[in-house]
Amino acid sequence: MSGHWRKSPPSLTSRSIKRRRRIIMAIVPAFHSVLETDRKVYHDSSLCTEGNNIEAKNRRAGTGGRPRCERCADRERGGR
Ligand SMILES: [Zn+2]
Repeated sequence: MSGHWRKSPPSLTSRSIKRRRRIIMAIVPAFHSVLETDRKVYHDSSLCTEGNNIEAKNRRAGTGGRPRCERCADRERGGR
């Protein structure tokens, strides 16, 4: 079980996929967090760590009328 992850480290895998495919696969339907302590932005990238950190129970579909997360915008451009 512990040796399983050594085969394909998640970070390396996603990085090589990103480099190979110019097509943007990271876009997901807009979602936002209803948690008070979270920033009032919406996310639409599956690669955004901030978006990924939102717990399922705090996650809502849609933009919530909020501005877009700049990290998600970054991801979409394929830049760093
Ligand atoms: Zn984001």
